[in-house]
Amino acid sequence: MGLAPSPLWEFFHKLSEFYGNNKTHYAAICKGCIESHITALENEDTEKLMSGAISERRGEVELRAAASELPPKIQGSTARLAQHLTTTFQLAGEASHKFHLTP
Ligand SMILES: [Zn+2]
Repeated sequence: MGLAPSPLWEFFHKLSEFYGNNKTHYAAICKGCIESHITALENEDTEKLMSGAISERRGEVELRAAASELPPKIQGSTARLAQHLTTTFQLAGEASHKFHLTP
């Protein structure tokens, strides 16, 4: 019988690879960080549209795929996941809080 997965995983994607060289913890990507990157990319597209650098915005799927590559991988231990959420709450702005409070 294994331990139940931490409820913190609601806020993270579990990757199918391990974090670092020891095979103890899976790598994690924060869902809140992906959402805030999507918003940033949307704003970028808006600016490029207005300046005429592009003629069309990227679609939802394309934006999500691009944004998923951007956040750093986190060690998927309960301590590290909790630390990421805590630091984000303390340091980041209102927008980021909103993203991180929505699993
Ligand atoms: Zn995050």
